[in-house]
Amino acid sequence: MELFDTHSHYNDEKFDEDREEIIKATFDSGVAKFMCIGYNLESSKKAIEIAQNHENIYATCGISPNDIEDSNLDELKEIEELAKNPKVLAIGEIGLDYYWEKDESKREKQKEFFIKQIEIANKLDLPITIHTRDAYLDTIKILKENKVNNCGIFHCCPLNNELIKDGLKLGFYISFSGVITYKNAKPEEPILLVPDDRILIETDSPYLSPEPFRGKRNDSRRVVEVARKIAEIKNESLDEIAKITFENAKKVYKI
Ligand SMILES: [Zn+2]
Repeated sequence: MELFDTHSHYNDEKFDEDREEIIKATFDSGVAKFMCIGYNLESSKKAIEIAQNHENIYATCGISPNDIEDSNLDELKEIEELAKNPKVLAIGEIGLDYYWEKDESKREKQKEFFIKQIEIANKLDLPITIHTRDAYLDTIKILKENKVNNCGIFHCCPLNNELIKDGLKLGFYISFSGVITYKNAKPEEPILLVPDDRILIETDSPYLSPEPFRGKRNDSRRVVEVARKIAEIKNESLDEIAKITFENAKKVYKI
């Protein structure tokens, strides 16, 4: 069985002590490929560095809505240059986060960065990976008004049926994380809405450890727990979910 973790942050400082060890353990565990996702300028550079040192790790670069306060629009020129690296397969994570940001003018800044980074993705012919939290309507509105040529992924997709339906209609892939294993998550209906050819799995490590590891530092080895939960809900075998999500990941990231 081969697994593809479509969203992890091995560029995070939480891996500074044992990064190479964990990367080796990850590949030994049956994860055949994974993405290292940037969220600001520094982490995007680090993601590329990690990807360049490992054949089966790929990078994204972008400025996330939660990193916009410390970023300026000039940095997007650098993101664009970085994204020309052949190991960079998407722009992201980008989007809107109204859970953490309550200030209206700062939300406007999030929208501006989101739109400008969609433009970069289109210019470089790349897909995007979207972070959206408590911002369903504005996210969909921006995606409708700013067509993304190479579609992309709703990463750690909120378990919101309307968002999933709209995302699918716009051609996006839906990626589920360890959140679907949590006790009060109610993931059945959202997961069953997503057809086999649009579903992806991820860890978002070092965050969001699935059960029974909730609260501990997460890493890509645990993506199997996400696949297991989806298999259970879709009433398919774990092998089949691994295969489907692997193929989908290759397709969206054009590997
Ligand atoms: Zn992330």
